[in-house]
Amino acid sequence: MFNKILIANRGEIAIRIIRACRELGIKTVAVYSEADRDAQHVQLADEAILLGKPEPKDSYLNVDKLIQAALHTKADAVHPGYGFLSENASFALAVASANLTFIGPSANSIRAMGDKAESKITMKKAGVPTVPGFEGLETEEDFRRAAMDIGYPVLVKAAAGGGGKGMRVVNGKGELGEAIESAQRESLNAFGDERLLVEKYIPNAHHIEFQVFGDQQGNLIHLFERECSVQRRHQKIIEETPSPLLTPELRAQMGEAAVQAARAVDYYNAGTVEFIFDPLLSSFYFLEMNTRLQVEHPITELVTGIDLVQWQIRVAAGEKFPFKQADFAQRGNAIECRVYAEDAANGFLPSTGKLLQYIEPHGPGIRVDSGFGVGNEVTHFYDPLLAKLIVHAENREAAIQRMQAALSEFVIHGVTTNIDFLQAVLAHEDFAKGEVSTSWVESKFMESDSLLSTQEKAPRLHTVEFLIAAALADVVFAGPKARSAVANETDPFNPWKQANNYRN
Ligand code: ADP
Ligand code: ADP
Ligand code: MG
Repeated sequence: MFNKILIANRGEIAIRIIRACRELGIKTVAVYSEADRDAQHVQLADEAILLGKPEPKDSYLNVDKLIQAALHTKADAVHPGYGFLSENASFALAVASANLTFIGPSANSIRAMGDKAESKITMKKAGVPTVPGFEGLETEEDFRRAAMDIGYPVLVKAAAGGGGKGMRVVNGKGELGEAIESAQRESLNAFGDERLLVEKYIPNAHHIEFQVFGDQQGNLIHLFERECSVQRRHQKIIEETPSPLLTPELRAQMGEAAVQAARAVDYYNAGTVEFIFDPLLSSFYFLEMNTRLQVEHPITELVTGIDLVQWQIRVAAGEKFPFKQADFAQRGNAIECRVYAEDAANGFLPSTGKLLQYIEPHGPGIRVDSGFGVGNEVTHFYDPLLAKLIVHAENREAAIQRMQAALSEFVIHGVTTNIDFLQAVLAHEDFAKGEVSTSWVESKFMESDSLLSTQEKAPRLHTVEFLIAAALADVVFAGPKARSAVANETDPFNPWKQANNYRN
């Protein structure tokens, strides 16, 4: 087993990994940027190394500095978390070349699944259903013919895409030229690559993904699904398991397809196979595979009872995964809400500032994975995820009630949060029925007055301490200044950039 692990990440996921290491008796090295000097992950780790300036290219995306930090602290393995370099095959190779273990799949698996066009071709060969479409198109005429063949609406998608970037829905041939151009521009900007694919746009689709897990001895299983259809900007906000849509037959079929997909690229460690599910036809199609730990992994941990991060570390160290598919079942229902510093009523615009008050909910079946506390600063440099609120209960209705109660106890002052928005979604009858598709938030929910009406119905705790703190402190809320600071940002996944493109 490893002696010491360097965690090449920040925020809640760095803390999640530190905790897993501590339980396994492994020492930890945190890394941080100048913007994260006071961050919780820095305090919780056994050692911490300053990487440099806040910009990701000078810190969390800087391969050389990360490898130097690992060698300097005599770490023997590197955990990449999610985002940043977690799906970067060159990083996995650089780690291995420095005689360190990369806690994740092989660089070859990462590469094979890193490109949406190539991975679709690999999946077709492996017999995994993919969305009808075309790759490798060049001229606008090619796209026009492909779109006609598929039938509108179609989706043009960056082959190198991720984080919901470089994607455009095209409803008719009049919109095609413009969509190609803007998707290409966005993809070139974010990924330095302008290749696009075109596929059938599935209306009222659900996003249903399967957790897979394997060891280096060739054992590979799935740990059931996660329904992630509550999205904005093609990014998840609420996830739950089991999916309210799946029958046992469909679950078995999709689970098998997920394992088949992973096997086709000799996968080991934790990974997620994402499917788009068409409720009209009850059919599912491979979307992409995320070759890393997923943000929403805790709901899988709660219903299966397995610690995914500990097992990531153990199989990376060469241990055999001792469980078989039949050892796993889904026990109860789990839901995760991503608590973001963002203003849902204002185009989900991220918010920055110092946390003046921060009180997490507690109670049976409630888990909070967070990287923040009172006094911490939310900056525009990184993803504005404040915390993941996760609940587990005996059935779906009880889980929804538990989540609503927990959200009402969550006190965060100093930045605008999406807690009111989350409450409004959970209180919505469509959510109760499990009838929320991936376009529901931006089409139906935001168009109605659902957000406002629930704010009145579900007032939240306000503490006297906050009023005092706010009066004493120099309260700075996100304003035009914070927004304009974004222009120089180098991270393609920086949501402050995306917010400006919202609804384009
Ligand atoms: P998940 O599929 O695990 O829910 P998200 O798509 O929400 O993950 O992305 C997780 C985090 O990683 C976000 O902060 C997002 O901005 C970032 N991210 C996603 N894809 C990439 C990538 N290819 N490279 C770097 N960061 C990414
Ligand atoms: P990313 O790498 O950015 O996560 P994905 O291919 O996983 O890209 O797609 C992100 C989201 O976009 C999906 O969760 C879904 O909401 C939507 N989406 C992707 N492909 C389709 C499609 N063919 N039809 C309908 N929605 C889609
Ligand atoms: Mg995806």
